[in-house]
This record gives sequence, C-alpha cells and structure tokens, in this order.
Amino acid sequence: MGYEVVIGLEVHARLLTESKIFCACSTHFGSEPNAHTCPVCLGMPGSLPVLNRKAVELALRAALATESRILPVSMFSRKNYFYPDLPKSYQISQLEMPLCQGGRIKIQPEGRPGKLIRLNRIHIEEDAGKLVHDPARPVSYVDYNRSGTGLIEIVTEPDLGSPEEVVAYLKALRDILVYTQVCDGNMEEGSFRCDANISLRPWGQEKLGTKIELKNMNSFRFVQKALEYEIARQRTVLDRGGTIVQQTRLWDTAANRTQAMREKEDAHDYRYFPDPDLLPLELDAAFIENVRLNLPELPAARKLRFQNDYQLSAYDAGVLTSSRLLADYFEQVTGAGADAKTAGNWIMTELLAVMNSEEDPHAVMPPERLSGLLRLLTQGEISGAMAKKVFARMIATGKEAALIVSQEGLKQVSDSGALEKILQDIFTAHPSQVEEYKAGKDKLSGFFVGLAMKQTKGQANPAMLNELVKKMLGK
Ligand SMILES: [Zn+2]
Repeated sequence: MGYEVVIGLEVHARLLTESKIFCACSTHFGSEPNAHTCPVCLGMPGSLPVLNRKAVELALRAALATESRILPVSMFSRKNYFYPDLPKSYQISQLEMPLCQGGRIKIQPEGRPGKLIRLNRIHIEEDAGKLVHDPARPVSYVDYNRSGTGLIEIVTEPDLGSPEEVVAYLKALRDILVYTQVCDGNMEEGSFRCDANISLRPWGQEKLGTKIELKNMNSFRFVQKALEYEIARQRTVLDRGGTIVQQTRLWDTAANRTQAMREKEDAHDYRYFPDPDLLPLELDAAFIENVRLNLPELPAARKLRFQNDYQLSAYDAGVLTSSRLLADYFEQVTGAGADAKTAGNWIMTELLAVMNSEEDPHAVMPPERLSGLLRLLTQGEISGAMAKKVFARMIATGKEAALIVSQEGLKQVSDSGALEKILQDIFTAHPSQVEEYKAGKDKLSGFFVGLAMKQTKGQANPAMLNELVKKMLGK
C-alpha cells in the first residue's frame, strides 16, 4: 500500500548572546565543567531570573527574518519535569503566548521544485545542563555550564514530505539564523539541534497517522538516515496491519537504527503554568521596528543580488552565498578591485580547495591579497598557470602576490620584441616544421609555442606567442 509521509520539525537554536538568558553567567562553550554557574542557573531557592534584552532582540530577528507574526505580549511559562540536568525541576519556556506565530521558509530541495514550509511558532526558552557519563564506571556527572543558555525553538507545521525536504529546510533555516547572527549554526556543539515528528498515512486519508518523535540527530546526514529508517520501519508495521505506538525514539549512530526511548508525553503532562517570577514580555512597536531596520540581508536576497550585480550564474551565486563569511569575502575581493567573474571562479576552485568547509576564508588569505593576485592575472602580468603557483606561495609564506612575483622573477614576458627574437631562433632551428606549418599543418603552432614556453621557463605570454607565430609565418 502507498503511504504519504508527514513530517514536522522542532529546531532548537542557541542564541548568540555573551551571557545566559536569565543571569549574567558566560555562555562560553568548552570551559571547565560548572565554571559558568550562579544561584540562578543552579536553581537555588530564592534566586530570581532577569530577562536578557539581547536574547529577545535576537529571537525577534529570527521572527522577522521568517515573516512571522509577532505577538505584542508574550508570556513565559514553567514546563515541569524532573531530570538531573534541570536543577529547578522546571524549564522556563513559552506555551500559549509565544514570541510569534505563523511565518514561512522557502526551501529548494536539489532537483525538485521550491516549496513554502509554514511555521507554527517561534518561542524563547532556556537550555538545560548536560550529563556526562563516565565510560569506565557506572557514574554520571552534571555540568551546568549550558543550564540557562538562551534558545529559540522553531516549530513547523507538518508540511514536510520527505527526508530530502527536511534537509533542505534545515539548511535554509540554518542559513537564515547564521546570516542574521542569531545562532552560530554549529550542530556538533549542539547550537542547532533538530527533533522530527514523523507519521505515515494512506494516500488520500485526511486523518494524520500516529506520530513518532525522533531525537539525537546531530548532523544533516543523521537526520536523513534516521528519517529514512523510520519511514521504512513504520511502513513495515502498517503493511502487516500493526499499529504505531506514540513514542520518542533516538537515532543510534552505531547501530544505524532508531531505538524506542519512552512513550511520548503530551503538553498537559508537563503542567505548564505562567512563571510568577517573570512579567509578561511586552514589545513596543519602536523596538520591533528598530530590529527590523537593522536586519542583515537574507541569504535568498543576497544570492539574487549576486546574480544581478555581478552577472554570476545561479549556481555560482548559490555557492558564494552558502555562508555569510564567504559572501562577505567575495564582496571584499571584488571591492578591492578584482573582476567579479574571476574572483568567483578563484574563490570556488582554488580557495575552497585549501580550506575546511566551516573555516573562515579571511583566516586563509586576506581578501585584499587575493584581489592583488587577481589584478596581476587580469592585467596580463602573470599567466593563469603562474597565478596558481603564486597563490600556493602566498598560502605558504603569507606574502603579497606582487612581492612573490618580483622576488621569484615570475613576471610574464609580454615584450613582443623579446618574444619575436625567441621565436625567430626556434624557426631557424626547425626549418622543416616551418615549411609544414606554412603548407597548412596549423597544429604545429602549438609545437613552436611549447618550445618558447620551455625556453622562458613558462613565463612567456602564451596568447601573445600564438599571435606572433601566425604573424611571423604569414598566416
Ligand atoms: Zn548563572
């Protein structure tokens, strides 16, 4: 029987604030366990939360960038449950009145038409601490450094129909959050985490099937694999006439399968109620407007601008705007005088080849430096082959292109007098080839040019040599 796959996503994104959301502790990742804690984020009785203004501003940026409807008043609620990494035994979150509702994100899965994914809501909440399990002994430790770090949760409507669409959505959302500097998007460090609700229903049936919540997928690849596994598992159960039990399942990377974790709770199991320690969050129009005016250009708009302003193909513009840092870098290289098409090609081939995908291109080579090299290339001072050599030397030594060219004598010989002299000597030494060329064997042009390149150790201008061969041998 054929089934329709229905997927909704909940993404937790860590807000890029210096301090936690309800106290002044640092959010620095990777410190000694429990180095960044205080009575508030340790849940000591009598301590009181104070809302971080910057966290609200960042959450608002995400709301505006996804065209969400901002609620003029939102409320913080307590979500009650016990777990050792949650010292208050409740998480401060938002339920009935979140920061915003609605909103949408356009996705473009590879080789498929674009699609609009509706958002249900974006709300603000705090993160829990972390349990560290000792591999040698049956002991777990608690690290509260992450406890009380600000998050937003972005919840979609069940609009996603395949693992490919899910991955496209996650990429688009991560781009938006990274571009707007709301979140660093780092999945390995847990700054961008995704849970998926997935169910199957027979084609044409209106009622949704029983949903399974999938957790613990900390890379795009695992998200895809977990969903593929779960679709196959649910299809098998349904085909046999079985029923799906509502539960939470974890992706087990080692076993390559999902494992049941617990029967899934509903919202009422958490006994949400408004947090009496926090006032309702009122956002005045001027504050919202100010955030809107300072919203950075979004990835889709930037890609379109790159196509129009720099005459780049959609593919090239997509690669160059795939990260905000790379897009900034491209504009700095062209801003420093390099030709846009050449700059785009060099960044996509030479520069990306020597850097890790998450690396900052500015750290690999300052943009003015790459621009300097590309100007020498387009002005004909050096050939393409030489430019690649110089580029490698620049990476190795950190020197400027012009300095390397002059120090290592790499300048291209474009002096036609000097080149004519070299060619004349070659013609004299190879009279039979000259006769054959004159008789119509045009291919021999490459033979003469090759010899001249060899004699000049690759420094002659090959285009000019080609012209000179034609001219000197009367073609
Ligand atoms: Zn604290």
